[in-house]
Amino acid sequence: EQEKLIELDKKHFIHPTSSIQQQQKDGAKMIVEKGDGIYLTDRNDNVYIDAMSSLWNVNVGHGREELAEAAAEQMKKLAFSSTFSTFSHEPAILLAEKISSLAPEGLNAVFFTSGGSESNDTAIKLARHYWRVQDKPERRKIIGINRAYHGVAAASTSATGIPEFWNMAGKMMTDIYHADNPYGIGKDKALSSLRSVIETEGPETVAAFIAEPIQGAGGVLVPPENYLQEVRNLCDEYGILYIADEVITGFGRTGKWFGVENYGVTPDIISFAKGVTSGYIQLGGVIVSDQIHDVLKEKSAGTLFHGYTYSGHPTATAVGLKNIEIMENEGLLENAQKMGEVMLKGFKKLKEELDIVGDVRAVGLLGAVELVEDPATNKRFASDLQVAPKVIEALHQRGVICRAVTYEGTDIICFCPPLIINEQQIETMIERLHDAIKEVRKELSA
Ligand code: PLP
Repeated sequence: EQEKLIELDKKHFIHPTSSIQQQQKDGAKMIVEKGDGIYLTDRNDNVYIDAMSSLWNVNVGHGREELAEAAAEQMKKLAFSSTFSTFSHEPAILLAEKISSLAPEGLNAVFFTSGGSESNDTAIKLARHYWRVQDKPERRKIIGINRAYHGVAAASTSATGIPEFWNMAGKMMTDIYHADNPYGIGKDKALSSLRSVIETEGPETVAAFIAEPIQGAGGVLVPPENYLQEVRNLCDEYGILYIADEVITGFGRTGKWFGVENYGVTPDIISFAKGVTSGYIQLGGVIVSDQIHDVLKEKSAGTLFHGYTYSGHPTATAVGLKNIEIMENEGLLENAQKMGEVMLKGFKKLKEELDIVGDVRAVGLLGAVELVEDPATNKRFASDLQVAPKVIEALHQRGVICRAVTYEGTDIICFCPPLIINEQQIETMIERLHDAIKEVRKELSA
């Protein structure tokens, strides 16, 4: 039966972010059957630690009946109803209020979407709209940073700073630019690159800057100290809006409700998705500052021609409310902080033990281990050696699902386990990582 499913998969199912040729050759590697806590089980009863919370999103872990029940209850009562125009309903209202109460001070209004890409498109369109209704339509340029990932809709594809994502259909939106990432070059050079892009483009033509507080898909790139504060200052200096893409970092991932809280900065717009429902159902959105909301209230006359059928979906928002309740009741932010420290300590120990471990980092339960030929000089491996993908494969064989990032010749192993993980489970995960790296290390010197 497994064989049959793999054949059908090849024949009929085009997978997202994947090699279609490889699928045709190898078939689906894993057909996942069920999830429980931090574990996923495939159809052959192999059990894996889901060290990525699947796609950086299953924050409360798999198999939560409370969430299934919240969805079922809401579906039985009112599975769907629109929030367009003057229609509304209780779960969306209560979730908007709840998210506002968790967001940094001064951000108190929420627009809902179905995922991160839509959220970033919404953030970018709202930023332009904010200026347009204030008679400054020339402020339409958006500045992002290299290696950023913001999604695959039109604006979010364009704002993404990983050029591979523009291959398919080009940059979809005009007037989007990228500044250098501090990764590798440091804070000062990155800031001067940002200033130079703003100056070259003309500050009075820039609507907004967008970045993830910690870049996820780029390789869990933690910003240098004060970088985000200085970005905020630069935005203020030029009157530019600051959009924080919290699709990964939001909802407890870094041990805070939002990643920006680790850096003492307050953005004008926050985009979110993933962790808001722990992936149990599709939901995303943006939270806007009071200032933006006030301008919209006052000046955005007529219809806001932006909205998705599923904006504020009753079932999705009901699940979002229950998910946040679980996080609060179980103290999952505190657990993310504590277990994040355990994970980082484990990474540091690995660095002492293994001579191809370079930089290691973690903020809450978002972490990474870099593999390099020479940790002293940070010399990278030749990319054809495929070091990180090999480690991922060795981990897979040991029952851990992880993700490799290899953009620009890096070999980064990312970790983003469910926020319910305990100390012993982290130790197991790191022991297996140790063995996997050791095996690949041996292969390299053979
Ligand atoms: N922004 C960030 C930081 C992400 O990591 C992602 C997805 O991984 C997105 C946006 C896009 O979200 P979605 O895949 O839900 O459209």
